[in-house]
Amino acid sequence: MKVLVLGAGVTGVTTAYYLRRQGADVTVVDRQPGPGLETSFANGGHLSFGHALPWATPEAPLQLLTWGGRQNAPLRLRARWDPTFWRWGAKFLRNCTPGRYRANTNTLRRLATFSQTCFGNLIAELPDLQFGHRTDGVLTVFRTPRAFDREAVRVARYAGNADHFQDPEQLLTPDECVKIEPALVPAYTSGKIAGGIFAASAATGNAYQFTNALAQTCQNTGVEFCFGVEVTNISRISGTITGAETSQGYIEADAVVLALGSNSPVVARSVGLDLPIIPVKGYSVTLPTSGSLGPTLGILDAERKVVMAPVDDGLRAAGTAEFLSYDQTIDPIRAQAIADVVWDLFPQLGEQPPRLANLKPWAGLRPMTPDGPPLLGPIPSPYGCANLFLNTGHGPLGWTLACGSAKLVADWVDCRPPTDPSGITFSRFG
Ligand SMILES: Cc1cc2nc3c(=O)[nH]c(=O)nc-3n(C[C@H](O)[C@H](O)[C@H](O)COP(=O)(O)OP(=O)(O)OC[C@H]3O[C@@H](n4cnc5c(N)ncnc54)[C@H](O)[C@@H]3O)c2cc1C
Repeated sequence: MKVLVLGAGVTGVTTAYYLRRQGADVTVVDRQPGPGLETSFANGGHLSFGHALPWATPEAPLQLLTWGGRQNAPLRLRARWDPTFWRWGAKFLRNCTPGRYRANTNTLRRLATFSQTCFGNLIAELPDLQFGHRTDGVLTVFRTPRAFDREAVRVARYAGNADHFQDPEQLLTPDECVKIEPALVPAYTSGKIAGGIFAASAATGNAYQFTNALAQTCQNTGVEFCFGVEVTNISRISGTITGAETSQGYIEADAVVLALGSNSPVVARSVGLDLPIIPVKGYSVTLPTSGSLGPTLGILDAERKVVMAPVDDGLRAAGTAEFLSYDQTIDPIRAQAIADVVWDLFPQLGEQPPRLANLKPWAGLRPMTPDGPPLLGPIPSPYGCANLFLNTGHGPLGWTLACGSAKLVADWVDCRPPTDPSGITFSRFG
């Protein structure tokens, strides 16, 4: 079977890997000159298997109103007269109830747990894959007792499900946080941390290196990559997809997987699909760290919404969210706000304020669904594109969910649907 994968980000490349492993003849098309050059490029580097959570929380509406348009706020909302934004926003708000938050958390955690297994199998099969993988775990730090107590309730709820979720999270006092991550020097952090949650199974690494190395493996096993090629349309004759129109001509296929990240809705429109995905812009900076002064764990600052991970060239920190922002220009105030969060927790990292140019600022567009879980698998009727499969809308968790999502989609293409696809297909928005 000839399968065309649209997109060579982490989602498209993992899909190509599983499809090829299952014997398909795979072609991957991407507009960039190589794999992983858009949102999968300089992301936060967390593999959040044990703590994959949706952004649509009961607290989110108030946070959005409070932070509103502030230029250095973790979430930034600028009202627009774009109907896409209002439709998406209404769905997001509907998912902020406690009941929907619980249901979406369950879906995400099930998928993250499956992804963890698939990821573990993949790296066991490919021991030479180099991507700065560190398995020390991730520590979430809370600055206020209120935020910590709220999360403690959630952790207690999931602790009862320990056999379902492989990695129950661990609640820590401020002293225990310092013990587990000595880079949180008490002299600097005393009074700043109300508590922590440790996810031992979470890991860190470099998503771009992972995507690139896996693409190389795919190429070695016969996957064809067409770089510098723009996909303009998916082609269909009545209910059957026949391939895709590109800047370099038509490519025929028996099945097509749509993995174009934030650009997926644009191309999906060519077959009449209105995907509820919007781009949510985020930034990262990579701070040079000297010696052992920086953290060795992945860190998440819960209230400031900044993730940190040790990478080859320093400490990567990522965060901020600007809804429905398509441009990837760097706003220095927003990039600086992320660096300031790092300096606030780890002032021993060096002189401040840092010069932004030295911090390798980067911006990427998270492909966000309004409820949190991605859109996977076939399109239900009445759209009737039996051989078009989605693997998109992974929002802030694209690397974490990549292997599990790709394996499910490859099985779907192979006529082996999952036994329980609830909460992950397009039909939940139908
Ligand atoms: C600041 C930030 C921090 C993040 N931190 C984390 C984290 O710590 N952990 C985590 O798991 N996730 C994180 N994420 C999310 C993660 O990076 C994304 O979910 C993931 O990269 C999405 O992968 P993708 O393959 O779907 O999209 P992309 O990586 O964007 O890939 C889509 C590909 O499609 C191509 N494309 C698009 N349109 C066309 C077209 N018309 N024709 C041809 N090619 C096209 C693009 O060139 C691109 O290569 C973060 C994201 C951001 C922005």
